[in-house]
Amino acid sequence: MKPSLMDYTQKELMQMIKPSFRVKQIFGWMYHQYASDFDAMKNIPKSMKAELSEKFVVNPLTIVNKEESSDGTIKYLLQMQDGKTMEAVWLKMKEEEIDCDGELVHEARYTICVSTQVGCKVGCSFCLTAKGGFTRDLTAGEIVAQVVTLKKDNEHKHNRKINIVYMGMGEPLDNLDNLAKAIQIFKEDDGLCIGAKRQTVSTSGLSTKIDKLGEMDLGVHIAISLHAVDDELRSELIPMNKAHNINSIIEAVKRFPIDTRKRVMFEYLVIKDKNDDLGSAKKLVKLLHGIKAKVNLIFFNPYEGTEYDRPSRKDMIAFQEYLVNHGLLCTIRDSKGMDISAACGQLKEKTEGEI
Ligand code: SAH
Ligand code: SF4
Repeated sequence: MKPSLMDYTQKELMQMIKPSFRVKQIFGWMYHQYASDFDAMKNIPKSMKAELSEKFVVNPLTIVNKEESSDGTIKYLLQMQDGKTMEAVWLKMKEEEIDCDGELVHEARYTICVSTQVGCKVGCSFCLTAKGGFTRDLTAGEIVAQVVTLKKDNEHKHNRKINIVYMGMGEPLDNLDNLAKAIQIFKEDDGLCIGAKRQTVSTSGLSTKIDKLGEMDLGVHIAISLHAVDDELRSELIPMNKAHNINSIIEAVKRFPIDTRKRVMFEYLVIKDKNDDLGSAKKLVKLLHGIKAKVNLIFFNPYEGTEYDRPSRKDMIAFQEYLVNHGLLCTIRDSKGMDISAACGQLKEKTEGEI
């Protein structure tokens, strides 16, 4: 597997490729024109392209499958150089708005959900990605290339704003070095120029790594996959809760540097008859007391062979109302792409049938 040019920051590339104005041009080809290979880079000398192509690839990913939902969600199965695959999702967050004169009020807004690993070591009992075990970490370039590939496929211009959520396959904090590198490459002014405030890292709660990410002071947001309010149930759902219990996560969140105007998101996967009762809602209010939090309730998305069920909408709304009435900001994540293989890991399984 050759390294990808997308594995490096502009500064790093400038140390490897001379003269440095060529790096600016290459950056433009990769991140503004979405060139997948060296052939497309018209103003780069042939000899330089030949030399670079001996050592590097440009975009290390190819699209192997794609499913489009009626709500605009598109799920991609992407293949890496070693043949391994992972998923990335294109999410339409807001429709474009056109006024009565036919003028555009605002453009549609999109979020890209990226993977950080092939498989996952955490092994959550409700998660399809966990069923296939852990294969390998993604490189920084493979993380960055997901955004480039999806923007290209959707003809999304480089200067249009986009949000990134690290909520695809894998545990981002288990691949912290490559994650941090990708965050920095996304931020590059001459590249994709996606600010840290537009990037949200979702974690199952490796509390020591939350501290490490905080110390790096990259400016990203975090989302905590909490899912349970007592350690017994949380350990059943997320085995590593035994090592990083709820209390240690809450303490790490309190230490995490956040933008004063922003809130830490707590994701709460609602599973029928497991954690959908108002007693849990009450405990959740208590647990998050004193934290500038926002709760995102997620419907459990069932798949074949799972022991868990999707909660009723009625229970979900009652849960939300309890939190809101007790002063917590709370949204219900509308299940995007319900008509396609929406839950994490489903498209991979369907295409390869390997799990
Ligand atoms: N490993 C990280 C990020 C990837 S998982 C984490 O756990 O936060 C992203 C989100 O998808 C998590 O909140 C996870 O709980 C959720 N998820 C996993 N399986 C799901 C399912 N079957 N239905 C709904 N959400 C699911
Ligand atoms: Fe890994 Fe997140 Fe799935 Fe848990 S929910 S197994 S941490 S990807």
